[in-house]
Amino acid sequence: MKYRSTRENHSEVCIEQAIMSGTAPDGGLYVPVVLPEFSAPTFDGAVEFPDVAQRLLAPFMEGSSLERLLSAICREALNFPVPLRPVENGLSVLEMFHGPTAAFKDVGARFLAASMEQIIRDGRYARPPVTILVATSGDTGGAVASAFHGRTGVRVLVLFPDGRVSPRQQHQLTCWGGNVTSLAVRGEFDDCQRLVKEAFADPVLRNSHQLCSANSINVGRLLPQAAYYAKASLEHFRSTGKAPSFIVPTGNLGNGFACVWAKRMGLPIDRIMLATNANTTVADFLATGQWLPRATMATLASAMDVGNPSNMERLRDLCGGVESIRGEVAAVPVTDAEIRESIRLEYRLHGLPWCPHTATALHVYRQLPAAERRASHWIVVATAHPAKFDTVVEPLIGAKVEPPQELARLLTLPTRFDTIPAQLSEIASRL
Ligand SMILES: *Cc1c(COP(=O)(O)O)cnc(C)c1O
Repeated sequence: MKYRSTRENHSEVCIEQAIMSGTAPDGGLYVPVVLPEFSAPTFDGAVEFPDVAQRLLAPFMEGSSLERLLSAICREALNFPVPLRPVENGLSVLEMFHGPTAAFKDVGARFLAASMEQIIRDGRYARPPVTILVATSGDTGGAVASAFHGRTGVRVLVLFPDGRVSPRQQHQLTCWGGNVTSLAVRGEFDDCQRLVKEAFADPVLRNSHQLCSANSINVGRLLPQAAYYAKASLEHFRSTGKAPSFIVPTGNLGNGFACVWAKRMGLPIDRIMLATNANTTVADFLATGQWLPRATMATLASAMDVGNPSNMERLRDLCGGVESIRGEVAAVPVTDAEIRESIRLEYRLHGLPWCPHTATALHVYRQLPAAERRASHWIVVATAHPAKFDTVVEPLIGAKVEPPQELARLLTLPTRFDTIPAQLSEIASRL
């Protein structure tokens, strides 16, 4: 499989290069030149997450040095459960928070880290030490730091917006040491993302430090995310004969785009709805046809605070015009007041605590017109464990949320970070 840029089609690269360079030289994002086609029977015998992932991802690795390692990479990286929890008639929740940092980003980060380690070891596409430069609105940084911590030949520089991540998220960003350095940037997530883009656009910085990205702009993070949509949709399809619909909490649009990919590849997926917070860029685009990125607003669903979602470029590339994008996804913005109400309501109805991001999607489900709701089985994607957002969730439900074991362990480690202004020179001097 070859990969091309979303901007200019002339330079096709192999997956090793697409993964190591993150973005294309013209500033576009890498996408496969063709999407493989599957049908449900192609997955016969594949039930567990790593097995489904291996089958789905094999065509994407064809002809690469990762092809024969794919099984081992899937088994090492995707080694935690991704259960579908039935909540009520017509609604299940896909719990994506059972990985080491208790958010769905563990999937992409762990797959990317395992793949990069092999590529660096191979030596043809990168010489150690490689530097991963990552901007985070909360969960990416923790997942990437955890996935790369202690691996040889790689160091990680994490940029997060000062004061904009939850206390427990911040702990997960700053407790690593060793080959991981964390910097609090005075600004928004978009400033962090801009700094990463500027660093990559600077040939001296990029080459002398062998910069690599680990944001969802990296195709190596996005591909394995399509695999949990495959697993969940097949699971439902096999037991009911019907294709489920998904509601995806959306920020930078990596998670939602992976769902669109899975559907386009032929997996049994009915409708796809994107739930955003008060950052309404995507919903406004679908409503007006005009793409107007804006400054990021801070909300309770902070990991979705993105005013200029990068992966829209891939969605537009895949679909073409706004009409066709409307045929693929709908987007519904959710206010902070609605997030609070959703967390309270779900706890009252089912005794289940959900994180503020998951709550946006549950709110969208509850607001569906009855006929639409009944027309499909709905799967809400739970993107993080509520214990990561204890300061929001616990006062609303009036109960404690116990952190999962691995998160509890991380929260006992000491932390360390520096605070910097949002300037490229600051990044350059840390490198
Ligand atoms: C990153 C994140 C999101 C948004 O995912 P995107 O791929 O950026 O759209 C939603 N919820 C949580 C908990 C996250 O960490």
